Amino acid sequence: MFILPSPLLKLPIQQLTKQNIQLSIKRDDLIHPNLSGNKWRKLKYYFASGLTQPIVSFGGAYSNHLHALAYAGHYFKRPVHAIVRADGIDPSNETLNDCQALGMTIECVDRQTYRQKNNPTYLNELQAKHPNACIIAEGGFGADGMKGVAELVSELDCDFSHIICPVGSATTFTGIISQLNPRQQAIGIAALAKAEYLTADIQLGLTQLKSSNDNWILDCDQHLGGFGKITPSLLDFIEDFYQRYQILLDPIYTGKMMLALFNAIQAGQFKDGDHIIAVHTGGLQGWRGFAQRELVSQHYLAKLGIN
Ligand SMILES: *Cc1c(COP(=O)(O)O)cnc(C)c1O
Repeated sequence: MFILPSPLLKLPIQQLTKQNIQLSIKRDDLIHPNLSGNKWRKLKYYFASGLTQPIVSFGGAYSNHLHALAYAGHYFKRPVHAIVRADGIDPSNETLNDCQALGMTIECVDRQTYRQKNNPTYLNELQAKHPNACIIAEGGFGADGMKGVAELVSELDCDFSHIICPVGSATTFTGIISQLNPRQQAIGIAALAKAEYLTADIQLGLTQLKSSNDNWILDCDQHLGGFGKITPSLLDFIEDFYQRYQILLDPIYTGKMMLALFNAIQAGQFKDGDHIIAVHTGGLQGWRGFAQRELVSQHYLAKLGIN
């Protein structure tokens, strides 16, 4: 039921550049309809066979991580409890409805409480409330999450110079960096505004993975106004991309990454002979939150084949 290794597809980009640059897309969005993209890779080791204890984790009200976690919990028969940042957000949205239908229990908290998510005292209290539970950090951040993502790189049986992925918690990015050789570079495109703080998390993660790789850059200027913010040019780009390649991007992560990459290629920021791998990290269920909040029209979604 899991499509692994995920397919690697070459994208023709002669409309962007006269340079001899190759672009391939790693289709992690095809891994599984409900556990798509980097989310399954990050959860894999938490659901290793034989483990049965309940799981507690964190996420926003439209979280792809929680959505995947609910499905995994259901599938592997592990109880899952979610702490949801739900200030001013309708907790009965489609994402959380799916999660609850799959058996996840949900605890909505305000922004202030949610901010405690990495605070040791708060985590101790949480552990006391859920004595047998395995607590997974927001976005699956942690050594097990990074280890699962690292496997993505070993699936690439080709020579490449760059690998680019969107960055939320930086679990995926850090796992990828840890597997590169010194001639390869990782480029992370931050989905959040003011994401510079992630640099320290990435360095910490690399230390945990015993990697000394420093061949990476985190681009913090491509968020288009902040996490989940969309612009007309982003929507146009996603539509053009879909028409050209029949590949759907999501508006929060992969759309912004691919737009940034196309701009960089057009601006001549790569050199002849480069082979870039762009990771499609999935996230397509996220469109529903935009539809429900009427941030995009039904007409637009229909053009992308979403109904
Ligand atoms: C969660 C998510 C990310 C961010 O991954 P991190 O490992 O948290 O950095 C990127 N893309 C998509 C589609 C996601 O759902």
